[in-house]
Amino acid sequence: MKTFCTLSAFALIGTCATPKYSARIQSIKDSIKLEDSTLIVNYANTITSEELSIHLYNFSSKDFEGRRVGEIGAKKAAEFLKNYYENEGIGSPFMTNNYYQNIPEDFLTNGIKASENVLAYIKGSEKPEEVIIISAHLDHLGVTDKGQINFGADDDGSGTVAIMEIAQAFNIAKKEGYNPKRSILFLHFTAEEIGRKGSEYYVLNPVFPLKNTVADLNIDMIGRVDAIHKNNKNYIYLIGSDRLSKELHYISDKVNNAFYNIDLDYRYNVEGEKNQYYTRSDHYNFALKDIPVIFYFNGEHNDYHKPTDTPDKIEYQLLEKRTKLIFATAWQIANQTKRLEIDSNNKLLN
Ligand SMILES: [Zn+2]
Repeated sequence: MKTFCTLSAFALIGTCATPKYSARIQSIKDSIKLEDSTLIVNYANTITSEELSIHLYNFSSKDFEGRRVGEIGAKKAAEFLKNYYENEGIGSPFMTNNYYQNIPEDFLTNGIKASENVLAYIKGSEKPEEVIIISAHLDHLGVTDKGQINFGADDDGSGTVAIMEIAQAFNIAKKEGYNPKRSILFLHFTAEEIGRKGSEYYVLNPVFPLKNTVADLNIDMIGRVDAIHKNNKNYIYLIGSDRLSKELHYISDKVNNAFYNIDLDYRYNVEGEKNQYYTRSDHYNFALKDIPVIFYFNGEHNDYHKPTDTPDKIEYQLLEKRTKLIFATAWQIANQTKRLEIDSNNKLLN
């Protein structure tokens, strides 16, 4: 981990990069060939602020009682997602109508009742054994001691509905003859708010072998604007993109430059940054298994972890644009000829 972080500093800041290292990075950049841009843009355009809004008002409604892990609200949220995938005709990886990975009570401990991750899946047409994961957590904080519901519209309703729309876009493409070459797993974790237990359980009990898991694009809070960016809303924080795979970092960058021009803000990716967001959401359990990750995040705001995190405060146009970027990045990783390279296997960097 230490070595990768040092390289990360070279790549992003460039102050101490040797000419040889810079040449290697340039070779990686040059090796990235973007997939068909017409297809990417067409299917990304099926992701709309209107649909994101409808899903989010449902998902963060009082019916789900703040989606506390193990409680009835989280069960309803899981069922909502299952019903969505069934209605959309998007299958599960279990080859039945079961979309749940059950997490037993003894794994969750502290009296928390059994809960479930929700998984949907589109099988790759050419390299089905290679899997890209797009993830977000479905659980939140439940109800406060004073009886107020923590709606969790941004945290992480925004990531949840982004996945719903991304899955729909891939499925429309599939129906029109553009099945992704690699498989895509849409993974909604439970128990993030009690210490990332849903993702921990998944990496201990993976549905597909971790060695064939190409990357995890994890989304946790992408519907709001933080104080730092109140005058420049066209941004998103990216964390972790260069730590295990420089290629992933430059793919993400190239896709963004080609299609969306969002200000990709890396300040929280700096080694030693005091908030340590790299370790603070579900992607980290994949990074610990040497699977390259990108964590998409809008930063904290005044409503973070409060009952006031409500769907009326979401910036839906911005949520749409950020969701499209994640879709386009996933499309590239799923369809490019060569599997995404992990730096320790990358001849250019050795
Ligand atoms: Zn969260």
